[in-house]
Amino acid sequence: MTGLGHLLEHNQAWAARMEREQPGFFSRLVDQQRPRYLWIGCSDSRVPANQIVGLPPGEVFVHRNVANLVVHSDLNCLSVLDFAVNILGVRDVIVCGHYGCGGIKAALAPSQGRIVDHWVRHVRDIAKFYREELESQSCPQSRERRLCELNVAVQVVHVRESPVLAGIASKETRVHGWIYDLADGLLADLTPTVESLRAMEPSAGLR
Ligand SMILES: [Zn+2]
Repeated sequence: MTGLGHLLEHNQAWAARMEREQPGFFSRLVDQQRPRYLWIGCSDSRVPANQIVGLPPGEVFVHRNVANLVVHSDLNCLSVLDFAVNILGVRDVIVCGHYGCGGIKAALAPSQGRIVDHWVRHVRDIAKFYREELESQSCPQSRERRLCELNVAVQVVHVRESPVLAGIASKETRVHGWIYDLADGLLADLTPTVESLRAMEPSAGLR
């Protein structure tokens, strides 16, 4: 026994319940994958994509990493995006961050020299870029929450500007920025933040 027997038991119970409630559920999924959405979210265990939007297996193609980043040179994320948009035909890409994100907190704190600190350097860059906006916040908590939002908005821009969406797919693909609140389980649309990004940007600007 691996010590994880309870998980296997949960799996058996779940599979039996799914098949009981929706006969043929698994046999239908075996032959085709037609998700309607791509979810790019944080690895945080408290923000599971399917559960918080109430969708079953087969509906959401998922990529998650610490702080929900879309890095221009990350072949992992770009491959997921390419496969979702150009092979699976997904037309709605959701970048979802969350308040209380450990990756965002780490980016606002002194580096600990861990591997993850190298990853969140991308977020530190965003914090530097929007320093004025962040410093205008009333308290550290507000600053952290605002960086969570700005980070999502920047990643939305990264998706839009990725080579994957440079072609015909860009006209048909919608990219959404959302944020999840751990405190109440609710999602909020960050479209106003995404759209105001250019107004806040320093002279160098995001292009
Ligand atoms: Zn997080």
